[in-house]
This record gives sequence, structure tokens and C-alpha cells, in this order.
Amino acid sequence: MDLQESAYTRSFRPDDEAFGWDGVEVLAYKVDGSAPFRAVTRQVLFEEAEHGCQLRYFEVSPGGHTTLERHQHVHAVLILRGRGSVLIGSEVREIGEHDLCSVPPLTWHQFRAADDAPLGFLCLVSSERDRPQLPSDEDLAALRADPAMAQAIRT
Ligand code: MN
Repeated sequence: MDLQESAYTRSFRPDDEAFGWDGVEVLAYKVDGSAPFRAVTRQVLFEEAEHGCQLRYFEVSPGGHTTLERHQHVHAVLILRGRGSVLIGSEVREIGEHDLCSVPPLTWHQFRAADDAPLGFLCLVSSERDRPQLPSDEDLAALRADPAMAQAIRT
């Protein structure tokens, strides 16, 4: 049977320029202009009402970054490919393939790809979730009081 015709299995195409899964639409990360980010795509891999959650794949191009944000809902992140860094709370860490990241409630977070490598990761979230909050100028000033954070933050 041709898996591409299967209702249950999506073939994975690691060598495609647009890294991803057959038949899974590649979406914009966010509505343009709604929040600061750079060079990120999104694919929703699993989403059924019965799951109560969504599994998404995000791909950040070299030099790109996700939005610096926080929210009540949590993220469980598995890095699938590439490398970069992550800011969670007051921590900045280098990350690479198969590392796991947990983002607790109301904790600032931002994912960055290295300048010479993409950063692709799975992200598990609840289907029902609050809207992300963006940092105010005061929040940013407080975060940047730590030199390591100041160096890591992209806006
Ligand atoms: Mn988030």
C-alpha cells in the first residue's frame, strides 16, 4: 500500500527543502504583525477533540527566533533537528537535537536558531489555551537587567 494514500500515516521527508510531513500544511507561525518573530513556520501534526491537546512542529530558520512571550498554558518541547538556544524564565541554554524543554505557566520564553543552523521542534499544548502576553517596556527592562538575558533576547 502506498503510505502517501493512507488515512492514518503521514510519510516524513527529511531531505525535502521544506522539512516536514506529506500532506501537512505549512502555516505561518503567527499572523504577521501580531507579535515580533523572525523566520518561523508551523505545522499542526495532531489535533483531535478527544486529545484535548495539539502537537505542532515549528521550524525556525537560521538566525530566526520565536516571540518572547508568556502565558498561563504550558509547553512541552522536543527538539527534533538543528540547534540554537532557549530562554525560559531567567535561564538561557544551548539546545540541540532530542533535548527537552518545559515551559511552566506565566514564564517568559523564546526559542532561537543558531546563525548557521535551523531549529526544529515539536511543541505540545492544550487545545484550550490563553492568549500569549508580550513583554511591556518595563518587563523587558527587568529581563535585560541580567547581562546574559540582555544578550539573548530578540525583539
Ligand atoms: Mn509560547
